[in-house]
Formats: sequence, structure tokens, C-alpha cells
Amino acid sequence: MATLDGLPPLRDVIQRYGLDARKALGQNFLFDLNLTQKIARSAGPLDDATVFEVGPGPGGLTRAILSLGAKKVIAIERDSRCLPALAEIGDYYPGRLEVIEGDALKTDFAALAPEGPVKIIANLPYNVGTQLLLNWLLPENGQWPPFWESLTLMFQREVGLRIVADEDDDHYGRLGVLAGWRTEARMVFDVPPQAFSPPPKVTSTVVHLTPRQNPLPCDVGKLERVTQAAFGQRRKMLRQSLKPLGGESLLVKAGIDPSRRAETLSVEEFVRLANCL
Ligand code: SAM
Repeated sequence: MATLDGLPPLRDVIQRYGLDARKALGQNFLFDLNLTQKIARSAGPLDDATVFEVGPGPGGLTRAILSLGAKKVIAIERDSRCLPALAEIGDYYPGRLEVIEGDALKTDFAALAPEGPVKIIANLPYNVGTQLLLNWLLPENGQWPPFWESLTLMFQREVGLRIVADEDDDHYGRLGVLAGWRTEARMVFDVPPQAFSPPPKVTSTVVHLTPRQNPLPCDVGKLERVTQAAFGQRRKMLRQSLKPLGGESLLVKAGIDPSRRAETLSVEEFVRLANCL
């Protein structure tokens, strides 16, 4: 059967290389190249870009990124069973696909990033998706703006809602504050369970994030401490939840009513609190 890009259908690839999906690795594969191209297109033009992809698996999204003209894809995959299938894609796009066998959580992306625009596109394994996002939002080396110019990532819809949430939204929490502080984040489109093999239990969503060039100045560690304390007891008034950090006097210093609750504070107010710590 002909495919959009001339490579064999993904179902055949899976069968040929015996890539039965493993739950422990968060494997839910996408087979529809129209859909993987739609995901890749939501990252904007790719012509000049190097793309980091986490978890290429059998390569459905990798193929889409390459067919849309990315200069190079650097893909990090933990499951060695996928490497022969990815090598086939590499042969089809000579010199444009580099596969690194390893754990993305332990990968120093900034050190691997070449000169020029870098985008990150991934259908993330759900068990490590949030931690990877935090690693990209709060890099250990403190570099901001970061090495990447956008993140286009698939999450469970519930997590996507938390990433893009603003104050007074039920999904607003630590993730929304940290993402909102450093990036502009939006949900692009939902993907139903049936689009994956095997289908996950919940709907997924593609989230697109671009870094703010000048986020409000703030110490990351302090912002993490206030958000952790405030949302750790999100139903309580801030004078109570922030007690270990100074409670009422900290709030008064920041000009914030101590009877308010965490979910009513804007990102700017959280930054003010962190800066008063
Ligand atoms: N990109 C493929 C697709 O869209 O069909 C596969 C996506 S699947 C949701 C997640 C992939 O991430 C799997 O191939 C899995 O082996 C890989 N993976 C899981 N944990 C990983 C980790 N810590 N580092 C790198 N890859 C990982």
C-alpha cells in the first residue's frame, strides 16, 4: 500500500520488527501519517530547524517531521527494539536523522543542540512527559531564553489543561504558573484515544509553547517554593498555606490579601511573592 512519504506503512514496520507496545515505556503509537504531519505542522516552518524528538518509537512522527523538510532530527529513544526501524528512515533521508539510544530524562539537550533554530516535537511517553517539560522550562544551567525556540508536545488532555491554565481555572497550579511565567502556552488540538495503538484510556492534546524573551525577573528556586507551598494546600487561605515561608507578613510585604487562595493569584503575583522571600 502506498504511503504519504513512500516508506512502508507503519503497521507493517511494527509487525516486521516485532514492536509490540510496552506499557512500562509509555508506548502508544501513532500510525496515521496525516495526523503525525498535522502535529509536526503545528510547530511552524521546519525548513531551517533542527528538531529534537523524544521517543520516536517506530517513527511515525519522525517521518512526518522529515517529510516536512526539517534540516535534521535528533531523536532520543530508550527502546533498542525500535532502532532498526529508525535506521530504515535514516537511510531514506540520508544525513538527516541521528538516533541516540538513551533516556531523555538523563539527556543534556542543551549540550547536543547545534547552532541555529532548534524545535522540540514529541508524542511524549506519559510517565515522563511532565518531568521533561519541567526540565526544559527550568534548565539546570539557568540559561534563558533557552536553546529551543518552541516545544510542540503531546500530553494527556488533563495535563495540557494544567499547562495552559490561568488563575481562577480549576486546572491552575504549579505547572500553570511555571509554564505561564516563562512561556506562552496554548493547546492546539485534541487527539482521541482511537488514534493510538494501543488506545490510551484518555484523550490527548497537543500543546505548543514558545519562550518569553523577558520573563519577569525571579529566582526559580523561590518561585518553586512558593508555588509548592501555596498549591500543596490549595483550598486553604494563603496566610495558612504559606506559614512555613512567612505567612501573613510575607503576603503583606508582597501586597497580597492573606485571605486569598492560591488559585486566585496571577503569575505576576506569585513572582512578587517569590521576590519577597
Ligand atoms: N513517537 C512515536 C509515535 O508517535 O508513534 C512513539 C510515541 S510513544 C507515546 C513514546 C515513546 O517514547 C516510545 O517509543 C518509548 O519507547 C519512548 N520512551 C519512553 N520513555 C523514554 C525515555 N525516558 N527516554 C526516551 N524515550 C522514551
